[in-house]
Amino acid sequence: MSLLRIDLISAVPDIFISPLQTSILKRAQDKQLVEIHVHNLHDYATDTYKHIDDTPFGGGAGMILQCEPIFACIEQLKAERTYDHIMYMSPDGQKFHQDMANSLSLCGNIIFLAGHYKGIDQRIRENLITSEISIGDYVVSGGELPALMIIDAIVRLIPGVLGDAESSLSDAFMNDGLLDCPHYTRPAKFRDLEVPEVLRSGNHELIKKWRLEKSIEKTKQLRPDLYKQYM
Ligand code: SAH
Repeated sequence: MSLLRIDLISAVPDIFISPLQTSILKRAQDKQLVEIHVHNLHDYATDTYKHIDDTPFGGGAGMILQCEPIFACIEQLKAERTYDHIMYMSPDGQKFHQDMANSLSLCGNIIFLAGHYKGIDQRIRENLITSEISIGDYVVSGGELPALMIIDAIVRLIPGVLGDAESSLSDAFMNDGLLDCPHYTRPAKFRDLEVPEVLRSGNHELIKKWRLEKSIEKTKQLRPDLYKQYM
């Protein structure tokens, strides 16, 4: 049994193929630290024409994902297990943040519902969805990419997913809410551009101090809001 089970519901599930089968998300599934199940809304269409969307009542542009297939899919999943969250991706949802990723990474079962076209029938949002999440104040064409971003942010926090060298604990926002420090790798001198001397000193205390100073400096300059919280 994996630590976290994710069910992804979408009208265009092919979008998930590469992201879920590459790099860290793939490795996490291979190690059985997370299980990700994709559900194609078309498989839950109930009418003879396999419709999953229709025009909006009251008129206007765009199609709306219908109640029937989404209720059928989510009700079936809920009958099989208890979910911590049934989340709808939406630009008017709560803005996603590292703190949310941290707490979601401790969950057991989560459903992500991706909208498409103009959105989903409001009755779904009012009767099935437990939280609505936005990736920011801009609109993309479907909830698939937002869901993938959130899933990636969650899964990389599950112990054992990242190796020591990639540890998420030293990333931006994790380290006392500070931004990450600058990083360098070989060669020590590229053209006339040199790597700061201290990083080559081998003095771990000094390196730690330098990195913290740089993180503080950068946060103060780029994100005064975070700096204020840190102080
Ligand atoms: N009419 C909607 C936008 C529909 S875009 C509105 O103005 O609010 C189609 C789908 O893309 C949405 O149903 C949602 O699932 C997803 N989506 C678009 N922008 C998003 C964002 N910033 N965050 C999360 N999901 C988003």
